[in-house]
Amino acid sequence: MTEQKWTVSVDPEICDGYGVCQRMEKSIFQPSEDDDVVRIVAQPETPEVLERVRMAVRRCPKLALKLVPRESAK
Ligand code: SF4
Repeated sequence: MTEQKWTVSVDPEICDGYGVCQRMEKSIFQPSEDDDVVRIVAQPETPEVLERVRMAVRRCPKLALKLVPRESAK
């Protein structure tokens, strides 16, 4: 059985760039030099990173992050 992969995305209209998510997982969330919207530079590929991404989604003060199963994220 293959492991379910997940895709995280950010709503740029909502994100304030404050960076709670960046502190949780720097390999996925990076600050932007152009605006106040966080950049998603990779997707979670391991259970450990996925768990930290889940935490970031839960703790985002603006509820700007979304995590969906990868097949339905197209
Ligand atoms: S925690 Fe939420 S509002 Fe803050 S930078 Fe990350 S996605 Fe944007």
